Amino acid sequence: MTKNIAVIRGDGIGPEIVEQAIKVLDKVAEVYGHRFCYTDVDMGGCAIDKWGDPLPEEMLKKCVESDSVLLGAVGGDKWNDVPGHMRPEKGLLRLRAGMGVYSNNRPAKIWPQLAEASPLKKSIVDAGIDFIIVRELIGGIYFGEHKTEEIDGTPTAIDILSYDEKEIERIGRIGFETARKRNKKLCSVEKSNVLDSSRLWKKVMHRLAEEYPDVELSDMLVDNCSMQIVKNPAQFDVVVTENMFGDILSDEASMITGSIGMIPSSSLGATSCGLYEPIHGSAPDIAGKDIANPIGTILSAAMMLRYSFDMPKEADAIEAAVSAYLDEGYRTADIMSEGMRQVGCKQCGELIISRIC
Ligand code: NAD
Repeated sequence: MTKNIAVIRGDGIGPEIVEQAIKVLDKVAEVYGHRFCYTDVDMGGCAIDKWGDPLPEEMLKKCVESDSVLLGAVGGDKWNDVPGHMRPEKGLLRLRAGMGVYSNNRPAKIWPQLAEASPLKKSIVDAGIDFIIVRELIGGIYFGEHKTEEIDGTPTAIDILSYDEKEIERIGRIGFETARKRNKKLCSVEKSNVLDSSRLWKKVMHRLAEEYPDVELSDMLVDNCSMQIVKNPAQFDVVVTENMFGDILSDEASMITGSIGMIPSSSLGATSCGLYEPIHGSAPDIAGKDIANPIGTILSAAMMLRYSFDMPKEADAIEAAVSAYLDEGYRTADIMSEGMRQVGCKQCGELIISRIC
């Protein structure tokens, strides 16, 4: 199979970590007989320096026309003082909107080899943590009207939370489809005991469930879900929820797994063209030192294979290689512990590549 991948190296550690992910993809292509073609895209601070714009139109076009986009990270102190509409992060928001990606998918997976990095009790971690949060990304209260006005002489702030049936249905389908590719368990999280938008959410999820008889649907209130994530995370396979609940729960979920450098993410919309990136930022404090952990980006590439290119075997091969690398005691500085062997960013990439088969 031939696939065209738009590559945004970005700023800070972005170029170093993306380089390793590309080498991993090349090795997968060689072993499994695929062809990955890369198109470089400037976005973020480097695009501001080169083009005076964090995401020039022709760069966005390259992304939209690709089969998927692989992103390192953007931003850094150098661009802190540029006007708001010119900030590196604006490029990212324009990219998400331009690609129409309305679903953000973030796995919370504990690697048994790194269990000690979790703040949870060993007995909870030992039961296993391996779930994914599917968060609605471009609707709900973050995109409703926001205003502050005087009502009866008192300053009053108002934020509108609204969801229509279509918005709920399209994210619901991503939840069901994701569960189908995993252990076929979907937990829909809402606040239907209080909110109308949640009652509609729940109704739509149950209607959709009839189309996915192979997926087991359950409901959970968001306050209970935030407790269950720390009490018994092993119960979850796929969680689907609205924008603000997903924002909060996905940060909680990434925290229980340990290192920020290990976590990938995907953002998907109506087509199979997705945006894949690690959850961390550009880490300017360690940029150019060859000490960054590239695994979050490498696992983002694995997600691209699984969710956009329908290449589950190839995605499994990358994940197994990461697991073997950790089993053998290799660690970058961010996850280093006593008795382990410290490696740099490049060496980490090379060790993972050599374990892909
Ligand atoms: P950060 O995630 O870049 O860094 C937080 C801490 O984690 C730092 O100490 C960093 O060294 C460490 N870290 C992050 N990724 C690592 C990795 N792969 N390996 C080892 N250590 C790693 O967050 P920040 O410092 O708040 O932000 C830095 C810049 O990144 C800012 O300009 C911010 O706006 C930007 N940012 C970009 C994105 C994105 O591109 N999606 C996301 C978040 C932040």
